Amino acid sequence: MYFKNLNQLKLEKNNYHMSADQFREEGKKVIDWIADYYENIEKYPVLSQVKPGEIKALLPENAPQNGESMEKMMNDIDRLIMPGITHWQSPNFYAFFPSNTSFPSILGDLISSGLGVQGMIWATSPAATELETRVLDWLTEMMGMPEKFKSTSTGGGVIQDTASTSALTAIIAARERATKFQSNKTGIQQKLVAYISTQTHSSLEKAIKIVGIGSENLRLIEVDEKFAMRTDLLEEQIQKDKTAGLKPFFICAALGTTSSNAIDPIEKIGKIAQKENCWFHIDAAMSGTAMLCPEFRHFQAGIELADSYCFNPHKWMFTNFDCDVFG
Ligand SMILES: *Cc1c(COP(=O)(O)O)cnc(C)c1O
Repeated sequence: MYFKNLNQLKLEKNNYHMSADQFREEGKKVIDWIADYYENIEKYPVLSQVKPGEIKALLPENAPQNGESMEKMMNDIDRLIMPGITHWQSPNFYAFFPSNTSFPSILGDLISSGLGVQGMIWATSPAATELETRVLDWLTEMMGMPEKFKSTSTGGGVIQDTASTSALTAIIAARERATKFQSNKTGIQQKLVAYISTQTHSSLEKAIKIVGIGSENLRLIEVDEKFAMRTDLLEEQIQKDKTAGLKPFFICAALGTTSSNAIDPIEKIGKIAQKENCWFHIDAAMSGTAMLCPEFRHFQAGIELADSYCFNPHKWMFTNFDCDVFG
């Protein structure tokens, strides 16, 4: 049973928290609620129909003083929250980018929450680190990636929240390599320049700003008629920058751009990166999942030239947001 006021809570202290039995009962109802949602998802308007501030206006200004029953809260979700949801999982959703969850993924998330594990280092839960390492090694094999990406070689991937964090991590690694691990201590003394295409995801520019390179030191290379980076212009720009006394240090190629799924010429860009001693990051956030199918792997020819690679299981791989893998 649930308590209507604080006095009651004080009287029956042992029942202050939801008991395991209540959790069992309410948990099953929540699972049913989620299953019902999926069975009826096509009935909702895909895009939330509310106006800005509409949901907030329906919520009390101050936190409630008394607890409420789970039933009442679930009613509130139906009544107050659902109108403000945009239905990313609807089969009629074609906006932004695909971000598909699935029942097994939801259950996995529930177990993860249930265990409340902190996986920051091995000792905080060995199974978290070791499962992560194993699964990412599986993925490198399943996607036909070279041996160097595996934990048994020079690689070993980690799960990141998003591709944006992977881009940030890659640029930090590139900065440290280019400055012989000095910028960590002294700040950036050299004039580093990075290269992306005009179609590259905005997270790369954001990361360049966060890392302290500065957006003026980011070159947006024009694309061809298929929206893929033009390598002749990339080479030209690198030579121009070198002549001006700048130091090219990072190039990003997209394996599937967000707006049109364009594929940059990975091998050509990789060879330029190698020649110019630049870190080569492949942002496969959008289309990396397609590499599970051998017939699409020709798109990633040259992947062995990459210093880092990421893709988003939370886009096409039926995995709940957020899950990006980075190696
Ligand atoms: C979606 C996308 C991103 C950003 O992904 P997040 O995981 O949301 O940060 C980056 N790059 C490309 C090509 C994308 O499609």
